[in-house]
Amino acid sequence: MYYESTRGGLKSVLSAEAIKMGIAPDGGLFVPEKSIKLSLDQISSMIDMNYNERATYILKHYLTDYSHDELEECVNNAYSQKKFENPKIAPVKRLNENVNVLELWHGPTCAFKDMALQILPWFLTKAVKKTGDKAKIVILVATSGDTGKAALEGFKDVEGTKIIVFYPQDGVSEVQKMQMITQEGQNVYSIGVEGNFDDAQSGVKDIFGDTGLLEKMKDINYKFSSANSINWGRLVPQIVYYFSAYADIVKEGEIKVGDKVNFVVPTGNFGNILAAYYALEMGLPVNKLICASNDNNVLTDFINTHIYDKNREFIKTVSPSMDILISSNLERLLFELTDHNSGLVNMWMKELKSEGKYCVDTKTGKKISDLFWAGFSNENETLKTIECIFREYNYVVDTHTAVAIDVYDKYVISTGDMTKTVIVSTASPFKFNDSVARAILGEQFVNGKSEFELLNDLSKECSINIPKPLKDLDKKDIKHKSFCTKSDMILQVKKIIGI
Ligand SMILES: *Cc1c(COP(=O)(O)O)cnc(C)c1O
Repeated sequence: MYYESTRGGLKSVLSAEAIKMGIAPDGGLFVPEKSIKLSLDQISSMIDMNYNERATYILKHYLTDYSHDELEECVNNAYSQKKFENPKIAPVKRLNENVNVLELWHGPTCAFKDMALQILPWFLTKAVKKTGDKAKIVILVATSGDTGKAALEGFKDVEGTKIIVFYPQDGVSEVQKMQMITQEGQNVYSIGVEGNFDDAQSGVKDIFGDTGLLEKMKDINYKFSSANSINWGRLVPQIVYYFSAYADIVKEGEIKVGDKVNFVVPTGNFGNILAAYYALEMGLPVNKLICASNDNNVLTDFINTHIYDKNREFIKTVSPSMDILISSNLERLLFELTDHNSGLVNMWMKELKSEGKYCVDTKTGKKISDLFWAGFSNENETLKTIECIFREYNYVVDTHTAVAIDVYDKYVISTGDMTKTVIVSTASPFKFNDSVARAILGEQFVNGKSEFELLNDLSKECSINIPKPLKDLDKKDIKHKSFCTKSDMILQVKKIIGI
């Protein structure tokens, strides 16, 4: 399988090269040149496989320049019982007759980013070797919370790599900060930046673009790379769990092979739901992909009006991992839906950059309406949903998952569709325990308590166990005390690399 850039500047790249580059030199994203189709028989064959076997089965269709053994090794290193608390890796939980929840947060950082960031380092280090590259890789990450920790865990002690994460000093939750400053490993660095996420992100972009630094790096055989969700190596492992969830509910007797299901995905950068689209294109029987947003509802408007317009206020919500106004991975969907028309994609991306807005053509718009349904959940609705689900099912969901459930309710009211549905659950409720406790236990209960007290309260009051990675987090040694201003980020990087 070869890959090409959505902007048309590069074609016929093998997956190892695409994963190593992360983003194409013309600014586009890598996508597979051809589509892959699985028959219902092939899908049936996954029913009796475990998660790792399903993963190898799907990945080998896309990463054809990796051998079967190499892929198996990547998969088994990533999805091991040592790293994931649930033996099924991505278990499906039945909520009621129509609704199942796909829990993607049993990994080491308690959010779904682990599903991709546990395996990306293995893809990447193998890619470097395969392409005859001798360089050591330095991963630079700017994070608003979840990605940073997941990337640190993924790259921890991976040979031939260093990882440096910049987080906004005062822009992450207590739990998220503690997760990053207690990170163990020989090759990991987490550094607080004075300012907000945008400061950290633009600082990282400046470092990536500093040609003087890049030259010096080359001299001592170092290379920068990115662990962002624009990397194909982060997207492809996400296709796996859609097939896995389907296989599991067939196995449970909820549906027969060939029956269609809906997936509801809480969406930010459009990576997770794009993986669902690829699964559908490959032949997974899907009725609708339901795109759930919070008050930052750019995607809701886009899917309903076919106009993407980021000219609006950025709202900080209780589901912060979805607070985003430019969903990068949408570019891949547009390229696919226009039958790989890079001319159109270039035009729209140029308009997005200059006007903050673009409108797709009628044909593409119709395809979007056929595939997707979209809605959003406001702050009150999200918290109310957490409370209702707990009262009705004695099941605790985090804020992002609650957004998905609320949007699903709106979908059913609007369409009357009773197709079996899978809600994609993206974080452990303990990771966003302040909002979850507020919703279930009430404002008064929560006021004045730290997030660490609330971990225990939530566990006691709702009778659920604190995931191991979050337990006693406040008692762990603090290993990373550095912080810096935005302009000093580059000095920090130089110091770490030794130039
Ligand atoms: C990153 C994230 C999302 C959004 O996923 P995208 O792939 O960016 O759409 C949703 N929920 C949680 C908890 C996340 O960490």
